[in-house]
Amino acid sequence: MGATAVRLRILREVHRDLDACTACKKMHGPVVHGPPVLSGVFLLGQAPGPHEGKLMRPFAWTAGKTLFKWFAENLGVPEAKFRDTVYMAAVARCFPGKAKGGGDRKPDPEEIGRCKPFLVREVAAIEPDLILCVGQLAISEVLGDASKKKKLDELVGKQFQATYHGRTVDVIPLPHPSGASPWHRIEPGKTLLTRALRLVGAHTAWIAATRD
Ligand code: SF4
Repeated sequence: MGATAVRLRILREVHRDLDACTACKKMHGPVVHGPPVLSGVFLLGQAPGPHEGKLMRPFAWTAGKTLFKWFAENLGVPEAKFRDTVYMAAVARCFPGKAKGGGDRKPDPEEIGRCKPFLVREVAAIEPDLILCVGQLAISEVLGDASKKKKLDELVGKQFQATYHGRTVDVIPLPHPSGASPWHRIEPGKTLLTRALRLVGAHTAWIAATRD
């Protein structure tokens, strides 16, 4: 068996273990993950929303529509191609339920910790070179606690380098596309988002992953 086939087999094993996981009592199943794409580009979101479990696809609802529009309009990569060429993961893989004040509850540190071993195994199998972090929680999971003190204005539109689960990667932060925050629709968010997507489009891992 070649190296690619071995990595694919390992990734499928991770998905099988994810599918069977019920470790978090406050979480709502089913587990949501994308297909086993061996890509140099790894997208890390926060957690699925209430609809993704029914459709069994990450970013399958309104936030996804916005996210995929960003890539289609700025980089010419439509949703179907994005799903086929970028590995899609999240800090937590089950729907956390609704928060008291409305919106989706953020996964808590224990839930993030329980889900982390899956990400460690995914990164080991995929060997990504570029991580696209979607939203503050995903950004701080990759860039560390220091980034929690920073506003999106200081993070989006820039490229960073980090060690993520033992792998040295480039990191391009993106805002969360949910309707909860208007940041990406008003200035300076609009301009910084465009700048971030330009960085994605120029990255060698993106070019290799999305090349026809
Ligand atoms: S969030 Fe992660 S660790 Fe928790 S039940 Fe879902 S898959 Fe398992």
